[in-house]
Amino acid sequence: MAPVKLGLVGIGKIARDQHLPSLSRSLGFELVAAASRNAGVDGIANFASTAEMLEAIPDIAAVSLCMPPQARHETAAEALRHGKHVMLEKPPGATLSEVEHLAGLAASHGASLFATWHSRHAPGVEPAREWLKSRSIRRMTVTWKEDVRHWHPGQDWIFEAGGLGVFDPGINALSIVTRILPFPIWLTGAELTFPDNRQAPIAADLAFAGPQGEAVEAAFDFRQTGQQTWDIVVETDGGTLKLSMGGAKLSVDGEERDVGPEAEYDGLYARFAELIAAGQSDVDLAPLRHVADAFLLGRRRGTEPFHFDPSAGA
Ligand code: NAP
Repeated sequence: MAPVKLGLVGIGKIARDQHLPSLSRSLGFELVAAASRNAGVDGIANFASTAEMLEAIPDIAAVSLCMPPQARHETAAEALRHGKHVMLEKPPGATLSEVEHLAGLAASHGASLFATWHSRHAPGVEPAREWLKSRSIRRMTVTWKEDVRHWHPGQDWIFEAGGLGVFDPGINALSIVTRILPFPIWLTGAELTFPDNRQAPIAADLAFAGPQGEAVEAAFDFRQTGQQTWDIVVETDGGTLKLSMGGAKLSVDGEERDVGPEAEYDGLYARFAELIAAGQSDVDLAPLRHVADAFLLGRRRGTEPFHFDPSAGA
């Protein structure tokens, strides 16, 4: 089958780090154009807006949206109304309702909508899910601590309303948690730490419960310098499973399992191609719902102002 012609929107860090390399290897898609207000991609047609791109190249059948969540809904809705298939970076939107609206549009216009969770394609995740299926889970501990200045340099949108703050990486952990646990969990308490000059939290501690009293605790922090931590530890009746490096590595009782190489974004584009071929959508809102619950239930405390340039606040 001929590759699907695709337009990439929002040419920033993730578009360059992951989408462009994966698309260059993809058999399912041909990248024909990009839309970005201040950036472009060499060797293809570039436009300042998605509307101009879709008007100029009507045979684009799919778009992949890489801009921040606060800026995504209008563009996604416009593309779906044109019958284009849409792939959304995580988190799929700034609110649950806007993503549900997009899912409805996709259904009524015969288009595929794929709300991606790239961390679910980390190589340790499916083996962890399989291993956990047949065991009785007692406790899960999630530690997701990274340096925002290193990973998100100058990305002020992340600390604006709707940018999610530390939940921007934390939702990746929750996307894995909600994939590997064989039962639903719900938030029972949370503490969110907001810099005094920001609209989104820089740290969060969450507690969840499962149906048999299983305990899930998560600690997210954007202020971690030095060693970076993206770990999930699950204590069960049959041993302790650990996913580390964001799901890239898996060990059981300290013994590492071979799970293969990292290929998260190749996996996402392969799945998007499958969905289009099958005429289906894939929109799982569970990770975003847990984040919304944390904003609903969480206690808030203030902390010192945050500046990307550490000397700015001195
Ligand atoms: P980014 O570097 O800030 O790039 C996003 C691009 O979107 C910008 O360069 C900008 O390009 C465009 N844009 C459109 N509307 C915007 C707005 N209102 N505010 C800011 N930029 C806007 O961000 P990113 O790191 O690529 O992250 C984008 C999305 O990918 C986020 O949802 C993030 O969670 C997800 N993601 C990021 C990473 C990562 O490691 N960075 C990893 C996985 C997923 P123009 O100015 O040219 O329009």
